[in-house]
Formats: sequence, structure tokens, C-alpha cells
Amino acid sequence: MLDCAIIGGGPAGLTAGLYATRGGLDNVIMYEKGMPGGQITMSSEIENYPGATAHNLSGMDLMIPWPEQCQRFGLKHEMSEVTRVSRNEDGTFAIHKSDGKSENAKSVIVCTGSTPKRAGFLAEDTYFGRGVSTCATCDGFFYKGKEVAVIGGGDTALEEALYLAKICSKVYLIHRRDTFRSAPNTIARVKATANIELVLNAVPEEVLGNAMGVSGLRVALKDGTTRQIDAPGVFVFVGNNVNNQVLMQEDGSFLCDMSPSGEVIVNISMKTSVAGLFAAGDMRIEAPKQVVCAAGDGAVAALQAIGYVDEHFHN
Ligand code: FAD
Ligand code: NAP
Repeated sequence: MLDCAIIGGGPAGLTAGLYATRGGLDNVIMYEKGMPGGQITMSSEIENYPGATAHNLSGMDLMIPWPEQCQRFGLKHEMSEVTRVSRNEDGTFAIHKSDGKSENAKSVIVCTGSTPKRAGFLAEDTYFGRGVSTCATCDGFFYKGKEVAVIGGGDTALEEALYLAKICSKVYLIHRRDTFRSAPNTIARVKATANIELVLNAVPEEVLGNAMGVSGLRVALKDGTTRQIDAPGVFVFVGNNVNNQVLMQEDGSFLCDMSPSGEVIVNISMKTSVAGLFAAGDMRIEAPKQVVCAAGDGAVAALQAIGYVDEHFHN
């Protein structure tokens, strides 16, 4: 029986592993289906992780020491995909893996993150992390004083367009319809911002570029013509998929309470509605979707898991 099972090895899962093992839990496994590090390893440069001041620090550079630091305190890493977490009759949890095997755990911290949706236009994947981005907070500064394109018509796209408009010389807000699904006051602020140009009824077709990076975007307009937008940065905000599949039970219900958009509902201690089950990082409600916040969540969840295991199993 594990003291704690951690699902996902991004910044939240790795930090949970560090705090859980260093805080005294004995038998802790972090299940990660790929290499540990999480989605930040896709980023060519990270500038906003406190203390990590090296020039041109990539997401991969940032994350490389994290697993080794955890292993020093006894965290076991198993490269497995978890398919489901279920609750046993005695209140412990079963971790079901894609190889058909399962493991029992006294507590579980789910840190499976989220995946920004891709819009699906040509060369989007080729230039992802090299001019195509899904994170304005992270990458907006690289386009200071330059023009950028923002794709999407929801709250995220409009809010991020407003953020980018403060840094960039011009923002082309490209939306496939002529009405937005964003809050009315956000729409009003966008329309009142002089350096945001609305490009409506415009479907992105292809991101343009070369070995140096992105040079622009071609969009198809409603009247059958195309337009080329010259911009070295293309930001895609077409929604997010929360990686919540591991919490889905055989009958289609979720193990714990979820928000309508599929995020795990937690309190400020990262506790879910089920005792002993915690969630941390991008997959929880109101996540700021930043490495430093995911790491902080992981630490909070692990400290809570230590208390839970002590109280329920070690007395
Ligand atoms: P993730 O990093 O998504 O990690 C989740 C992990 O769980 C993944 O490794 C995944 O493989 C694993 N996993 C998922 N499902 C399973 C399963 N069923 N079984 C086993 N393992 C599973 N943030 C910043 O602060 N600064 C930046 O500059 C910045 N730049 C970014 C640039 C890009 C291109 C992207 C995409 C994001 C960027 N972010 C940045 C956001 C940051 O990466 C995330 O907020 C952070 O990684 C979230 O951490 P997490 O641990 O919650 O989830
Ligand atoms: P969203 O509301 O799902 O909006 C996604 C947008 O992307 C839509 O405008 C959609 O167009 C467009 N889109 C989707 N697929 C596309 C594609 N392949 N090509 C081009 N465009 C595409 O996502 P979100 O903006 O990330 O918001 C997610 C949830 O979080 C929402 O409930 C939102 O209200 C909430 N949120 C709230 C706040 C806030 O309260 N301040 C801030 C951010 C997010 P269509 O409109 O044509 O479908």
C-alpha cells in the first residue's frame, strides 16, 4: 500500500513528490506517462520562474533538476499512464494503469494538468513554441513593441488580447465569427483599445514562417478572399482541455466534484470533495496556469496528504 500516489509529473506533481517524501511519507510513487517536467518543457524560454535568471533558459532547462531533487528524498518515478483512480470500500484508493495492473494508495494527489487546444491550421504544430504560443503571460514579452495575432473569441482570447495590447505595438484579434462569446464589458474594453484590430469572420488557414521563426498568418475571409497578417507572434486561445480522464469512473461519473468546464473543485488546501484525494496545478479550478503556481499547489497538496495519512492510518 502506497502512502501517496501522485498522478502526473509536471511542476505540480514533482513538487508534491518533493514535499511528500521530504515530509515523511514512506512509499510515494509519481506516475508520469512521459518524461517528467510537464508542458513547460515545450517552452523555448521561461523568464518568470523566481530565481531562475539564466539567460535564454528553456522550459526543459528549468525542469531537468527537479526529478533528481525528488529522488534524493525517496520519490519513486514510474513511467506509466494512469487510466483511472477509484475508491476502495475501506476509503483507500486504487490506481489503475494502462498495463492492466493496479496499486492501492492511502492518499492521492492528481496533477495531470491541462492541454491548450490547438486550432488546427497548417504549420501550427511546426511553429509551436517558436512563434506560436498559448500563453501570453509567458511569451508576450518576447514581442514587446511588435505586432502579434491572437486567435479566438472567448474570454481568454479577449483578455489576453488586452494584456498583449499593453506590451505589443498592435494586436490583430482574429475570430471565426462576428460575435464574441466573452463578457460584454471585456468586449467593450477590446473595442475601445486603439491598438487592437478586429479581424472577424476570419478562419486561420496557415502560419507562415521560415527557419528564423514565424512571419505571419494567412486567414480565409467570409467573402472567399484571403488576407495575410504580418506578425512574428501568433497566440492561440481556442479553449483548454483539462486532463481529468483519470477521475472518470466506469459509470461515466467523476470521483469528486468538478466544475461545469471539467476542472477539479478544490478548496485553498487543494482538498477535493473526497477525503484523501487532492488535486493541484492546471487541472484545478481557477488555476492561474503558471509553473510557480502549480509548484505551490503541489506543495500545499502534499502537506495536506501528510496530515491526512498521519491522522487516518498512523495512529
Ligand atoms: P502539466 O505541466 O500539464 O503536467 C501534467 C503532467 O501529467 C504531464 O507531464 C503529463 O504527461 C502527465 N499526465 C497527464 N495525464 C497523465 C496520466 N493519465 N498518467 C500519467 N501521467 C499523466 N508557465 C509559466 O509560469 N511561465 C512560462 O513562461 C510558461 N510558458 C509556457 C509555454 C508553453 C508553450 C505552455 C504550453 C505553457 C507555458 N506555461 C508557462 C504554463 C505552465 O507550463 C503550466 O502552468 C504548468 O506546466 C502546469 O503544471 P502542472 O503540473 O499542473 O501540469
Ligand atoms: P471558449 O470560451 O471555449 O472560447 C474558445 C474560442 O475559440 C471561441 O470563440 C471559439 O469560436 C474559438 N475557437 C474554438 N476552436 C477554434 C478553432 N479551431 N479555430 C478558430 N477559433 C476557434 O474558451 P476560453 O476563452 O478559453 O474560455 C473557457 C472558459 O473559461 C469559458 O467558460 C470562459 O468564460 C471562462 N473564462 C472566464 C474568464 C473570466 O471570467 N474572466 C476568463 C477566461 C476564461 P466560437 O465562438 O465560434 O465557438
